[in-house]
Amino acid sequence: MSWSGTVRCTNCYKTGHNRRGCPVLHERMKERLAQDADDYRAKEYFAAKARGKKRTCSYCSNEGHNRRTCTVIQKDKTFLVDHLATARPHIMQKFAEIGFGIGALVRDDHWGYVCLVENIDWAELTHDHVPDEMGTGDYNYAKRVPFVARKITDGQRYSFNMTLNELAKSVLSPTNKDGRRAPQGWSQGTIYEEGNWFDRSDSRSYFFVENNALSS
Ligand SMILES: [Zn+2]
Ligand SMILES: [Zn+2]
Repeated sequence: MSWSGTVRCTNCYKTGHNRRGCPVLHERMKERLAQDADDYRAKEYFAAKARGKKRTCSYCSNEGHNRRTCTVIQKDKTFLVDHLATARPHIMQKFAEIGFGIGALVRDDHWGYVCLVENIDWAELTHDHVPDEMGTGDYNYAKRVPFVARKITDGQRYSFNMTLNELAKSVLSPTNKDGRRAPQGWSQGTIYEEGNWFDRSDSRSYFFVENNALSS
């Protein structure tokens, strides 16, 4: 650091970087290594660079571990499972109340077609689908339930997204208990869309920070 507070490189004498971060030196060392793979100085240079590069976790941004060995992500996963296990009985209760499930007849809220429910995207269902008592606020702002249904007149399949509130008005003919048989582990919260919560390219989501998942 010079008196003016700017960094000057001892290799190329330009300002704005030091010797360790010098692009000229970096290029020269790369060339030396290309000419001679055993070039001692070049090897030392790159080894030092590698040592200097601190490992940070792509999930929690802490140093010294990676995503695979991150204890924060492990705790967050446990937290999510608990959270889903609490929320999902509310969803199931609502399904039972309105008669929604596989085998139910629903009226398409846009065209008015009558459709037979074939499949529900169970893994997508979270606390965000539960209105009021779970704290998502107004019923109408709850997340939409994704499901697939077949138009009874021509057998055409459609993907639907409706809130529980919309579904309550759309069910024409309810299903029985069998139509609400969720996959094993769903009620316990162990089945969820991995990519929605822990996508490899995403860092820790605000949901976990906000709920202070680590303290539980
Ligand atoms: Zn330089
Ligand atoms: Zn981490």
